[in-house]
Amino acid sequence: MDFRNYLHTHPDEKGYFGRFGGAYLPPELEPAFKEITEAYHSICHTTRFISELRRIRREFQGRPTPVYHCERLSRLNGGAQIYLKREDLNHTGAHKLNHCMGEGLLAQFMGKKKIIAETGAGQHGVALATAAAYFGLECEIYMGEVDIAKQAPNVTRMKMLGAKVVPVTHGLKTLKEAVDAAFEAYLRDYKNAIYCIGSVVGPHPFPMMVRDFQSVVGFEAREQFLEMTGELPNAICACVGGGSNAMGLFPAFLNDPVDIYGVEPLGRGPAQGDHAASMGYGSEGVMHGFNSIMLKDAEGNPAPVYSVASGLDYPSVGPEHAYLRDIGRVTYESADDAAAVDAFFKLSRYEGIIPALESSHAIAFALRKAREMKTGTILVNCSGRGDKDVDFIAEHYGYGEDHKY
Ligand SMILES: *Cc1c(COP(=O)(O)O)cnc(C)c1O
Repeated sequence: MDFRNYLHTHPDEKGYFGRFGGAYLPPELEPAFKEITEAYHSICHTTRFISELRRIRREFQGRPTPVYHCERLSRLNGGAQIYLKREDLNHTGAHKLNHCMGEGLLAQFMGKKKIIAETGAGQHGVALATAAAYFGLECEIYMGEVDIAKQAPNVTRMKMLGAKVVPVTHGLKTLKEAVDAAFEAYLRDYKNAIYCIGSVVGPHPFPMMVRDFQSVVGFEAREQFLEMTGELPNAICACVGGGSNAMGLFPAFLNDPVDIYGVEPLGRGPAQGDHAASMGYGSEGVMHGFNSIMLKDAEGNPAPVYSVASGLDYPSVGPEHAYLRDIGRVTYESADDAAAVDAFFKLSRYEGIIPALESSHAIAFALRKAREMKTGTILVNCSGRGDKDVDFIAEHYGYGEDHKY
């Protein structure tokens, strides 16, 4: 398949990547999503929008983020050379701001006054609250009461940035209820507000929009890698929760002779409820308004999921990933909690980079793959920094004293 025109031809005008994606919406929400789709097409490809977003990326976010050769880690690991795309150095410490700034700028161009979203672990909420502060927009973040208690530092950050955190108190009081509450709020206020999703998931146009805003990661990385080494990497990889940092990295390399890997969280193991490897163990189904591969319980509802990395525990995956696997272009693998924690310590101790536990899954896979490859290069998307995870790791796993060098 020729991927040169891929970003312009995928998804199709209804929002499908092959048979995955689409927009399964209650009729009352259809006009709101149609408005966003039309605005995206008419605004986001204009020179004014693109040049303003470029300026923001450079001056506010600190882009381009570097590509870094992990020489010591590669030597101690053995095999292929490991490189990182340093999204942990993006402002706020993760890749999520890439699409939040795009969505915020779109809101501004559309004349909206408010942005609405849900958050689970709080990472999306913080990135969006940052964008809202930058653009002077009101920001309303729906969050389950259980998550609010668990993620106190992120709740504080959101409030500090001027966002209103709305506790969701019904059902299990976690992400699923927060999604429903955010949709309801958006429905009440869509003339005035725009809804902003946290990954390449949800109804069309969000998987496309978030991918397009994230794709700066791969386009930068490809050029940087070529300049550093004179060649393309042999392989690239990224962790996959919803799949946005992966869809940031992959598109620039689709038409190249480069092996591409998405890495899902295998948690404590393959039993239901112990992991969140949707592609590995799921089946086709519609959830949260789009058709993709999802983990289902016996009744066909979204199954309970778990990962040591709370940003990865989502029971479905972006529809474009389902498509890219179907056509055989991307391979999906997994790394479990233990491998991710080991990679977390290794990168910290051998390179002086503390990665997010989410990113540690991609690094764990890269370590395994590099040994298998023996020579060549592998580029990993280091999607975020691990400051948010150090207290949890210290409490449950110690300080990594056994990782001597
Ligand atoms: C949220 C998050 C992820 C998972 O989200 P994707 O949409 O799968 O990229 C990965 N890494 C970090 C650092 C995150 O905050």
